[in-house]
Amino acid sequence: MRGQLTAAAGQSKAQSCPQCGADTPYDERFVAWCAACDWNVDPGGAEPVRGRFEAKQRRLAHRYGEQLHAELLADPDAAKGGDRSGTLARVVAVAVHAVTAVLAVGGILLVVLGWNTVVQPLIGAILLVAAVVLRPRFGRLRHDGPVLRRADAPRLYALVDEVASAVGTHGVDAVTVDADFNASVATFGLKSRRVLHIGLGLWEVLDQQERVALLGHELGHYANGDQRRGRLIGTALASLHTWLYFLTPVRTPHRRRTIPEMLTDLLMDVPRWAVYAVTLLLERLTLRDKQRAEYFADRAAVRVGSAAAAAGLMDRLLIGDSVESALRTESVRAQTRIGGAQPRAAADGLWERSAERAATVPEREYERLRRVAALRGHSVDATHPPTHLRRHLIEAGEPAAAAVVIDPEAAAAIAAELAPARETVAHAVIRDPAG
Ligand SMILES: [Zn+2]
Ligand SMILES: [Zn+2]
Repeated sequence: MRGQLTAAAGQSKAQSCPQCGADTPYDERFVAWCAACDWNVDPGGAEPVRGRFEAKQRRLAHRYGEQLHAELLADPDAAKGGDRSGTLARVVAVAVHAVTAVLAVGGILLVVLGWNTVVQPLIGAILLVAAVVLRPRFGRLRHDGPVLRRADAPRLYALVDEVASAVGTHGVDAVTVDADFNASVATFGLKSRRVLHIGLGLWEVLDQQERVALLGHELGHYANGDQRRGRLIGTALASLHTWLYFLTPVRTPHRRRTIPEMLTDLLMDVPRWAVYAVTLLLERLTLRDKQRAEYFADRAAVRVGSAAAAAGLMDRLLIGDSVESALRTESVRAQTRIGGAQPRAAADGLWERSAERAATVPEREYERLRRVAALRGHSVDATHPPTHLRRHLIEAGEPAAAAVVIDPEAAAAIAAELAPARETVAHAVIRDPAG
């Protein structure tokens, strides 16, 4: 099925570059650009920055990503975990939780000892509520779509188990499926159970071996102990963000603040900036660790899926925006019934069409996207190292054969197990009222 459109849609003619005159193949579906002089390589320009915090985080992530890339290129075993900033981050995290504990103890004491006064139990109750809100939370199983248990998808779980044991860890307890152009692993519940999140937006445009590489990357995070290390710090960061939420005054635009409002805002400014500073410090202290973890997880991807598959996965990450916008277009067309499109029909074969579109993206467009990624510093999110550097490290490593290969029979069985979830999520994408 894949590549069906290539012959029809891939008709290209040549034109010459207005900047250097070199011959440039032209394909009307993609940006015209010149490989010789980079003319028009990035007509869209950099993406807008989402907020000061995110912008700062991204800048730091890029800097650390570049440093680590250079270190790991020189010595693949360099910068193994557990440096001084990691220890300091854990100390800060413990201190954050200690503040919550102090609030709880203080609240209880005020209520118990000040029982005969009115004010003290009241303040105590407020402190107790704050402590409850700020307590470390061991995440629940969060999902936007279907949850598959082992009994629902034995062959998928068998693949996950195989990949897990190849990278030196064990499998997962739940698999969640939604439309994201992403995949991730997380820990949930007090017993630290594992959940693998598969976003079909990404999964469906990968070939079998790239899927193995993706699973290798995700499970590699467990093998490297990232989740364990992340838990103490992750819960502390969540508490800090809750602090920030409560300390940020709600402002109604276009209305002058009253004097008492201005005074309370001023009063909240000091603790807010303090919390903000601690949050930044903790993010900063852990960012290097996170980046290293991503590079090591990529190594796991290479080991199980092969270097070619891991590099292919990096390329596929670059077409995320166009895959997502094509899905949105399908949804809009179906809902407005443009050209007689029907919601139910649009949900049928949604993922197949997405895979077909992705399969017709020519190598030349990938080359352009790789250059844009290097120019803009594309990364999957605010904590991942730049994608082009990840790809470069993957290609610079020892070429190795795949440790796990999906045979066609297993691939078909896994597709059949995922079929109901694919349908449910496709309907959610199109938002078919009957779905
Ligand atoms: Zn040119
Ligand atoms: Zn990762």
